[in-house]
Amino acid sequence: MHFTDTVYRNPYWPTFPLLQITQGCTHNRCKFCTMYQNVDFRLQPMEWIEEDLKEIASIDPNAKTIQLLSANPLVMSYDKLAPVLEMINKYLPKMEYIYTQGRVSDLKNKSVTQLCKLKELGMREISLGVESGDDDTLDRINKGYHSSDIIEQCSKLKEAGIDFWMSFLNGVGGKELSQAHAVNSAKIFSQCEPMLVGTGCLTLFPGTPLLEEAEKGKFQPLSEKEMLIELKTFAENLTCDCYFITHHTVSGKNLTGPDFLKRKDSIITALDDEIAHGDMDMLAAIRRSKRTL
Ligand code: SF4
Repeated sequence: MHFTDTVYRNPYWPTFPLLQITQGCTHNRCKFCTMYQNVDFRLQPMEWIEEDLKEIASIDPNAKTIQLLSANPLVMSYDKLAPVLEMINKYLPKMEYIYTQGRVSDLKNKSVTQLCKLKELGMREISLGVESGDDDTLDRINKGYHSSDIIEQCSKLKEAGIDFWMSFLNGVGGKELSQAHAVNSAKIFSQCEPMLVGTGCLTLFPGTPLLEEAEKGKFQPLSEKEMLIELKTFAENLTCDCYFITHHTVSGKNLTGPDFLKRKDSIITALDDEIAHGDMDMLAAIRRSKRTL
């Protein structure tokens, strides 16, 4: 298999089969991320993709699902992405469910008609690393799009019938923007109605501009308790029914699962309990031990 330097796979998806079709990230400027700092964006050569598909087919010719890597394969134009999906179907004829990930802005170069065709070719689920629905926060972290883009591009996915995930990055607005980040993200996410909302917590990794700003006092990171309070505000304001994932945050309590609206009260109660009685030192220690997003 042709896996290059850094690849990101969705940990909630099966680890096999994985197919890398791009290297690096086209944006590479989010202030909290160093994942692809030293990797130039490139499309994998079609010969590599074909060789990898032959290898996957030799192991599991009946594979029905596949995850496309790396940071944002979704950025590929329709004319480049469709042949990749056709090749997947050629070597894995039982394929039903192709998953990939990307940025909100990666959808701009595709029409609804093209998205419908990609769905026909098996593209059924997309994970969008949205991080925030608050414009000031999006600008603050140099995300490269605004809430109006999120709504516009997600509505295209809705129209095409492609399921999508949206991620909320807890703490990324710092103390100054925490309330607006939580409330406005919940508002925009609710409007978009994703199938899944995933939340993760900001960790300031060495080499990130946000850590440098924090060291100079220009960014005030949230404490572990403030992270939980922000997550609670986000959950309180989220009104769409979805699968809801929290990770990195609430130790010892499983808040992840389907039917968010049915579970919303119990999630908020659990967060209240964690805010009042949680071991913040342990949460901080877990965060310090993290090495990557
Ligand atoms: S967070 Fe995602 S979009 Fe931003 S630089 Fe990292 S990989 Fe690229």
